[in-house]
Amino acid sequence: MNKKQKRTRNRILIAIVLFVVAYIIAELMPLATWLGTETAALWAEFALFLIPYLIAGYDVLLRAAKNIGHGQVFDENFLMSVATIGAFALVLFPDSDPHMAEGAAVMLFYQVGELFQSYAVGKSRASIAEMMDIAPDFANVERDGELVQVDPYEVAVGDEIIVKPGERVPIDGIVLAGSSQLDTAALTGESMPREVREGDEIISGCVNLTGLITVRTTKPFGESTVSRILELVENAAEKKARTENFITRFARYYTPAVVGIAVLLAVIPPLLLGQSWSDWVQRGLIFLVVSCPCALVISVPLSFFGGIGGASRLGILVKGSNYLETLAHTETVVFDKTGTLTDGSFNVVAVHAEADIDADRLLSVAAHAEAFSNHPIALSVQKAYAGPIDKQRIADVEEQSGHGVRATVDERVVYVGNDKLMRECGVDYHDCELTGTILHVSLDGAYVGHIVIADVVKPDATAAIEALRAAGVKKTVMLTGDRTDVAAAVADELGLDEFRAQLLPQDKVAEVEKLLGETHAHGTGKGKLAFVGDGINDAPVLTRADIGIAMGAMGSDAAIEAADVVLMDDKPSNIAKAIRIARTTMRIVWQNIVFALGVKLLVLVLAAVGIANMWLAVFADVGVAVIAILNAMRAMNVRNMK
Ligand code: ADP
Ligand code: MG
Repeated sequence: MNKKQKRTRNRILIAIVLFVVAYIIAELMPLATWLGTETAALWAEFALFLIPYLIAGYDVLLRAAKNIGHGQVFDENFLMSVATIGAFALVLFPDSDPHMAEGAAVMLFYQVGELFQSYAVGKSRASIAEMMDIAPDFANVERDGELVQVDPYEVAVGDEIIVKPGERVPIDGIVLAGSSQLDTAALTGESMPREVREGDEIISGCVNLTGLITVRTTKPFGESTVSRILELVENAAEKKARTENFITRFARYYTPAVVGIAVLLAVIPPLLLGQSWSDWVQRGLIFLVVSCPCALVISVPLSFFGGIGGASRLGILVKGSNYLETLAHTETVVFDKTGTLTDGSFNVVAVHAEADIDADRLLSVAAHAEAFSNHPIALSVQKAYAGPIDKQRIADVEEQSGHGVRATVDERVVYVGNDKLMRECGVDYHDCELTGTILHVSLDGAYVGHIVIADVVKPDATAAIEALRAAGVKKTVMLTGDRTDVAAAVADELGLDEFRAQLLPQDKVAEVEKLLGETHAHGTGKGKLAFVGDGINDAPVLTRADIGIAMGAMGSDAAIEAADVVLMDDKPSNIAKAIRIARTTMRIVWQNIVFALGVKLLVLVLAAVGIANMWLAVFADVGVAVIAILNAMRAMNVRNMK
């Protein structure tokens, strides 16, 4: 509880004590005998209950008055003020029972409910902040031979920083010296520490567990992983789900409607049917108390908030509650192959050089041409070559996505890529009998051979596809620019429903559009399509799909930008988890909506026919709010969600 909440709590406690005292005096003391007349006793009671009422509710009254001044009449402050003032005003009807006690009680309980709400919201905020407590406060840099702590914002790209065991890595970079184990749990939910040594990339937000490491920064603090994640989580609250907007709109019409009905209820029967005023005014007031939509207005956003927070605990960043809603309806999941379902680190299976060149030279030429590319294929070729790469020898590099690369190496034009690329530049290539991705290489327009590389599927990919089916996904499709036989082998191994091969990036967009059409036309038409990619040349598809899921936020900026959901861990099995969290959250949201509206409707009917009294109305209102909030907080509990 924060200071303000504590003050409110104390104020409510004082009001409750005074209320009890007033109640005892009103019930047990012979006020009428003491004061002489019944009327004097009634006004004494009035004064007695007015004190706790004002102590508990003066802020509600003030807010209601202020809002009326601003032209926003119908909010819950207004409802509560009118209902309670009305209860006190019944003192003016001589033939009615006094209802001051109820008026004061309504305000008291309402404030208890409000306090509970603000506590619940604060708590879920705090726990998100806590699990997002990955922001480092300082970076160690060496100045004049001494280690000093500086603000991470002051560290420039390319500076050397030192991370001691037990400290959080403040900025993304590359390990220059030392080796250690990193705890990435706060980022990825993965509990196994990750080994790093010289030359490895490390991302900010991890905790350095064992060794002292020197890191050369590759990004400024503001663009490092931690800063970006924090920004994402903070902005998530602004992207509201349709359900959420619906509730806001609903409250906007609902409250005036209820006030209208309450007025009619209080006025029509006495005027037209000659019934007693006090009885019907009282029914109208009860109506107002029950009608307060606070349970809905607070619990729905709180449920979404919980779902987003819970997901981020598992390393799944959802950029807004609208995406959580879409995710819950996912029926088709489309995957990119390389780097998403497969590891993306290719092994060289064979190097087939033509007669006039040797295999080492072929690999060296290819590695040089690929030296500036970030494509998983390029990285694997560079790794397989292992020799030194002299960037002075390379010029005019051009990457042709879905085809390969073109570069000038030692003044000679090199093409490395697939058969499409060879055909486009008119090189006479020949195929290979081996299964794998084939990189054809040409030198100055002459074919010099090919390198066959192969990739393995990720260890949890098969389980991930099964988990998706279990979570209710109807169709899984893989899209790839790779060869058909490679695609078929992967699709078969993973048990995918469909695959399409030999696609250029723009073909992938067209395929996704076709699949979108099929998904939306299928069944109830509510089904959605998710595309999962690693962000390398699939950003257009990520934005085109109903929901774009990017793998490996560990590196790719394009992915974070284009995607709606970012998986901090490269594991495909997290997709099913994200869908499950989304479904659970939506279930909780609808439980709350149905429950809150159901109970309200019931009490409203009871109030209209005169069965419900003010006490029941109060308990129904506060009780429903508290239960709905407790239910909403379950959305955050993802640990026991499988
Ligand atoms: P995927 O759809 O599997 O993610 P891409 O669309 O990135 O694959 O690439 C499709 C094909 O284009 C690859 O299988 C490869 O044949 C060729 N290719 C793409 N980039 C490169 C590169 N840098 N070097 C060589 N070949 C490449
Ligand atoms: Mg790809």
